[in-house]
Order: sequence, then structure tokens, then C-alpha cells
Amino acid sequence: MTSDNLCVLCGTELRVAIEAPPTTYAAPGAYGVSECPACGLGHTSPAPSEAALRDLYAQDYGYGAHDLIAPEKRWRSAQILSRVVGASDHSILDIGCMQGFLLDAAKARGIARRQGIELSPGPAEEARRKGHDVFGGTVEEFARDRGDAPGFDVIVAQHVLEHVVDLASFVATTRQLLAPGGKLCLCVPNFSSKLRRALPRSWSWYQVPAHVYHFTLPSLTRLLEKVGLHIDQSFENGGDSLFLLMTGVNTLSSKAPGQMRKAPSMALRLGVRPVSRVLRSYFHLGDDELMVVASEQKH
Ligand SMILES: [Zn+2]
Repeated sequence: MTSDNLCVLCGTELRVAIEAPPTTYAAPGAYGVSECPACGLGHTSPAPSEAALRDLYAQDYGYGAHDLIAPEKRWRSAQILSRVVGASDHSILDIGCMQGFLLDAAKARGIARRQGIELSPGPAEEARRKGHDVFGGTVEEFARDRGDAPGFDVIVAQHVLEHVVDLASFVATTRQLLAPGGKLCLCVPNFSSKLRRALPRSWSWYQVPAHVYHFTLPSLTRLLEKVGLHIDQSFENGGDSLFLLMTGVNTLSSKAPGQMRKAPSMALRLGVRPVSRVLRSYFHLGDDELMVVASEQKH
């Protein structure tokens, strides 16, 4: 038995969860998902190589589709901020800020000090054009560059953690960036969602191999506890309208599960904008997204 088949969080032997999940990012069946029977963490299997991930992001990992639902992205960000931001919070860091949807919402709330981090140059530039301060690089590079600058009252990372290869480094660095008493808010796809269990071959947030890990509340709790953070609040949210349409297309598609799905992206482009306003209310109904708010462990 190699370490490839052991849970990165708790060392338990993994078992196959799904062999050929639908994905837009790989050939049919190239990657599956294994899960840890102890903590529930899903692992993309085989683990994608650094080179494979680099190619994927260089080629076709655009955020273009998210532009189609920009008003919905800002609305979701405002919902999230309303749960996290308190009267005494004056600074915010958005890791993986894309085109600045959450920073727009933070500005509208009157949060004085706002910072974004975005690896993808195009979206970062777009956020800067709107007047946001955006660092282009990883969270580790950002932390190194800023030295002893003051930490942030609130740090948000929406749909970032599942893309991260070195989970321990990411959460440890993020913790260092919190101001005393600061809050870390993570949003990730919920690997134990009801819809995933009901439609395991259609659920559209596997996105292997771009999503390296697949979280449940117990696995997220364990990861954060490793760096001395504990979860104060947790929520379950429905997926966005892109997620819903993609799941619908996967269900109706006659293709074998796991086939590369380029055609649906065209259907999504045509269909998503008009229905985004209606489908956004699924935010309050579904449980496909796990949202946690964590802070330093009290002794
Ligand atoms: Zn585990």
C-alpha cells in the first residue's frame, strides 16, 4: 500500500467513491474520486500532477462563464458577507477574488480596507480596473511580500480550497494573515450534499482534476483544527445557477458519464443569463455549498 491511497488528513485508507464523475476538465474516466471512510474527505484520484494542473489553468480555465452571472455572484457575496461581517470589522481579504464580485459587495457595505488575491491575470486586471487592490500570486507569496503588515478582520475564500494542492500550507498561511480575533470564511462544494447523493453521476461540482479535494463538514473541521482554528458557524447553501444548469444538462445528456462536456458550455451560455435571477434563490434551498466561519481556538 502506498501513501497515494491514504487520507491526507487522517491517514485512513481510502475507498472509491465515484469512478468517472462528469467533468469539463479531463478526458472521460481519466480521474475518479476516492473518499476517506473516517473523515469523509474526497481525494481526486489519481492525484493530479503539478504539470497537469499547470496545463489546465493555462489552457481553458477561464472565468468567462462567471461573467454571465455577475449580478448573481455579487448577490451571493453580499449574502455571505451579511453572515460574516460585524460592526467591528474594518478590513477584508478575498483570496481568489476573480473579477472582484465580493470586493464590490464589501465596498457597498463600507468596509474600509479591502484587498484581493487572484492568480489568473485577466480577472485580476478586471478587478483592478474597478479600483480594487489585487495581488497577483499565491496566498503564500502575498504573505511573504507584506511582511509584518497588519492582519485582516475577515478573510474570505470562496471555492478556492478545493483547488489547493497543499492544504496544510494554505490554511496555516491564511491563519497568519488574520488580525487578532479575525474570522476566516471558507466556501467549498459540499461532497456530502443531498443532490450529490441523489444524482451522483450528474452532480456538477466534482470538476476533476481542477478540484483536488472534496470536502465534508467533518473533514473541513479536522483540517482547520490542525492549525488551531475552530468553526464558530457553518451553513449549507445551494449551488449557483451555472451549477444547477450544468447538473441539469448532465442529467439529460445521453453521453456516458464522465465524458468531456464541451457542448453544454454552449447551452449554458445561452441559457444561464435569463434564468440566473430565478435560480439564484436555490441558494436558500440547496446544500451543495458548505460555508464555514472559523476563528482562533479559545483556551
Ligand atoms: Zn480522513
